[in-house]
Amino acid sequence: MTLKFTGAKRGTELECKGWEQEAALRMLMNNLDPEVAEKPEDLIVYGGIGKAARNKEALDGIIRSLKSLEGDETLLIQSGKPVGIFKTHEHAPRVLLSNSVLVPKWADWENFHELDQKGLTMYGQMTAGSWIYIGTQGILQGTYETFSAVAKEHFGGSLKGTITLTAGLGGMGGAQPLAVTMNGGVVIAADSDQSRIEKRLETKYCDRLTHSFDEAVQWAEEAKAEGRPLSIGLVANAVDVLQEVLARKIKIDVLTDQTSAHDPLNGYFPHGMTVDEALQLKQDHPDLYVQKSKASMAEHVRCMIELQKRGTIVFDYGNNIRQVAKDEGVKDAFAFPGFVPAYIRPLFCEGKGPFRWAALSGDPADIHRTDELIKELFPENEALLRWIDMAHEHVAFQGLPARICWLGYGERVKMGLAINELVRTGELKAPVVIGRDHLDCGSVASPNRETEAMKDGSDAIGDWAVLNALVNTSAGASWVSFHHGGGVGMGYSLHSGMVVVADGTETAKKKLERVLVSDPGMGIIRHADAGYAEAQEFAKEHNVRIPMQE
Ligand code: NAD
Repeated sequence: MTLKFTGAKRGTELECKGWEQEAALRMLMNNLDPEVAEKPEDLIVYGGIGKAARNKEALDGIIRSLKSLEGDETLLIQSGKPVGIFKTHEHAPRVLLSNSVLVPKWADWENFHELDQKGLTMYGQMTAGSWIYIGTQGILQGTYETFSAVAKEHFGGSLKGTITLTAGLGGMGGAQPLAVTMNGGVVIAADSDQSRIEKRLETKYCDRLTHSFDEAVQWAEEAKAEGRPLSIGLVANAVDVLQEVLARKIKIDVLTDQTSAHDPLNGYFPHGMTVDEALQLKQDHPDLYVQKSKASMAEHVRCMIELQKRGTIVFDYGNNIRQVAKDEGVKDAFAFPGFVPAYIRPLFCEGKGPFRWAALSGDPADIHRTDELIKELFPENEALLRWIDMAHEHVAFQGLPARICWLGYGERVKMGLAINELVRTGELKAPVVIGRDHLDCGSVASPNRETEAMKDGSDAIGDWAVLNALVNTSAGASWVSFHHGGGVGMGYSLHSGMVVVADGTETAKKKLERVLVSDPGMGIIRHADAGYAEAQEFAKEHNVRIPMQE
């Protein structure tokens, strides 16, 4: 089957029978836009093998189903394949998706790969299989927020005059260079695959590329001395770079990593061999590849711990590398913290998370109008206004124009309803899709990431992610997804997502009023239940009802 990936349709002419179905179709095709997806020809969107549909036949089936779907029907997607259509009602979701979910006892990569090879499942990552990935910008604000929290906590508010070292410039990790320079710092970001760095240069997320370790260090030290922001993509294996840094005692201020370590077979290159040698080994001896990959991660984490001992600020950036190292015998693998407990949890206690929207018109002017709307609605929020100005200046749109803003409980519904109003009055040229990452305040159970070190020890309680999907379905989101294994890999996470379409109608208004309250509200109740005083106070002030705390 030959399918052409030319991205989403734009404009106001519909291929489907309503805007919600049309939005799902456009966002699916947007996920596979060559500007957006890492490997569209394999249906891979980002994050190792995070896919938008199981295979080309299933993709074709989804497209056909969405085109014929009525406004009172619901399409069911089982790991990237359309499996049923039922009559529901106008206020129900148009699509329900479950991706990569395995019965707990079977929930590991070995079983997953076996079932994947039999064509029975697909890895959905977080926003790949749930059709709300918006390219690297999606992660940019979160990464910017994280590095600015690092700056505030350790360097007086700015990364000026500091060097950050990281690795992995893929779909998500590619946001790191720009997030560091937006905070005024210098960054060396290693990636084994030159083409990934080139992609970041094209989209202006990274300033320079080199194959030379010496050149990267020289450029970094010059920029640091001048207090000038600079991002350098170094074509190299992360472990080789770290070993060199340690051997030569180079001063690194901040260290993290965003290789796809959650997936030792498809997401990580073992050190001590070229990329071509690694790909050959993977093809010929996948088991040996996984062994070498895990051993390499153990060495990677050992180097990170050694740099921490030498005074570098080190944190895990959500790829489960510490767990693999621990399983490989690195006893103190968790010596450095995860980024959520270290920097993000206070935001989660206010229902803040990666809220985003995309303009179905395809016209950048629609997003620029919503940028203005943010300024009109939240004039007091200086950090948000700074972000909007920086995004306007630095972010090249990939696929459908889109914007991400970390908004909290109360703010999200305010913004969603205002967008719906702009669609209704025709100020925006077409409806707008409103959604979020699964990495949010009340939608994930992931003990090595979003729910690491919860105050009451509830890190591995999965009920919250299930309840999030159920309440958003009841509230009438346009599509709702429930996934397993995103971010940190099989066996380590459960999470859900939602999207609501603002098409300017009264029905959309009602859906937005419900979903954009229940969804971030889950973050408030989850953290209040776990004993966070900030969340408990926030719930009281904003009348979020929590039966056991009333
Ligand atoms: P990706 O698969 O698109 O990119 C991974 C990159 O790492 C590739 O470019 C690859 O060439 C490179 N790489 C692999 N092994 C390497 C090595 N040893 N040395 C140097 N480069 C190497 O993945 P992505 O979407 O960028 O996600 C990266 C990781 O971050 C994933 O594990 C993902 O789950 C996690 N993640 C974290 C967050 C967060 O907010 N912290 C959010 C999303 C994803």
